[in-house]
Amino acid sequence: MGFVVEHECPQCGAPVDLEETHRILRCPYCEVKNLLFARDMFRFVLPYTAPGKDILYAPYMRFKGVAYLCKDIAISHRIVDITRLGTPFTVLPMSLGFRPQTLKMRFITPHDTSSFLASSVTGEDILNVVGQHTSAFVSTRFVYRAYVGEVFSIIYLPIFVEKNMLYDAVTHECIAFLPDGQVHLDSAVADNPRWQISFIATMCPNCGWDLDGERDSVVLTCGNCNSAWEASNGRLIPVTCKTVIGGNDNTIYLPFWKINATSYQGLEFGTYADYIRTTNQPRVIQQEWEHMEMSFWVPAFKIRPRIFLHLSKHMTLAQQDFETKEKIPTVSAYPVTLPLSEAIQSMKVTLADSIMNKRTCFPLLPQVDLTIGEATLLYIPFHETGYEIIQEQMCVSVNKKALEFGRLL
Ligand SMILES: [Zn+2]
Ligand SMILES: [Zn+2]
Repeated sequence: MGFVVEHECPQCGAPVDLEETHRILRCPYCEVKNLLFARDMFRFVLPYTAPGKDILYAPYMRFKGVAYLCKDIAISHRIVDITRLGTPFTVLPMSLGFRPQTLKMRFITPHDTSSFLASSVTGEDILNVVGQHTSAFVSTRFVYRAYVGEVFSIIYLPIFVEKNMLYDAVTHECIAFLPDGQVHLDSAVADNPRWQISFIATMCPNCGWDLDGERDSVVLTCGNCNSAWEASNGRLIPVTCKTVIGGNDNTIYLPFWKINATSYQGLEFGTYADYIRTTNQPRVIQQEWEHMEMSFWVPAFKIRPRIFLHLSKHMTLAQQDFETKEKIPTVSAYPVTLPLSEAIQSMKVTLADSIMNKRTCFPLLPQVDLTIGEATLLYIPFHETGYEIIQEQMCVSVNKKALEFGRLL
């Protein structure tokens, strides 16, 4: 479950509520939009009032994402959402329970006067914890594991020491008895990380127009010069974008990353024909497929893992030769909520899912080293019906409720 963060609008100072998945701060007062950016990972603190106390911030590492495991003849998946203590002081609670979901957090700032306990846990450590967590649900050894759509962050729990007792500064409840008082924690105090949330103005780098995007969008578009942009290392970089021709009044354009890739290790393929042969599809290979580039088609939006895999496999195997135009849809375009970097991490799982002879080919997965080529963001028209939206040429449909739920992942 996600949580809410309160932050001041950098333009007018008004308080704005953001959800954990939001990447755009849109101020309801001055209507200015800003893209949020963190130089490493987002850092939050739980709200507290403890006047006159020397506050210490205890770090908790948070991971949210989907884990895919390939084993035997199947792929298992699980939505992971864990927050774990990130210091060796095990007198502190191992988890924060439901508090992040029930309290409104804030970002830490370089001006926080509290002391910070050093984080002994790295991103890799937390992935190991996630690994233990996720491998517990498979009975046999797995051959390959991937994490997709992952978000790492740190949540700080404010604590203080009084008369040899350690207190939680949020609830003012006693957590533990410390025989040597504050000294017990002093050795673990680290420098203030001087961390600060950064903002990128949502202005088109090409023409200066205000960019369009929903609050959870990771790709912003310009309706003036027809360009698309993704944040990378604190700046906006261009995204190649195309739209499949064929929409009408009832159309929703779903975004997909179309990513060229080849593999010359483990399982080999250089063209679409090779991919069909390598994955042993029961299809007659057409002459022209021998010269067709191989592309993976990955949903550019978060959705339940079962549907994500289904769409990815179906569209990758079909390699539909759509007629496209350069124009980005200005209305009814579903927001891009999965960045290209995360889509790339899912490609080996799609390859695994495409394989017909899983028992023989799965052990080769760890050796597969994909060479990534060009990537295009492709908006594909889906027509609305009652509960679903349907892509007629590809014969695939997506449940509308599943799309709604995906916004919360
Ligand atoms: Zn404002
Ligand atoms: Zn522009």
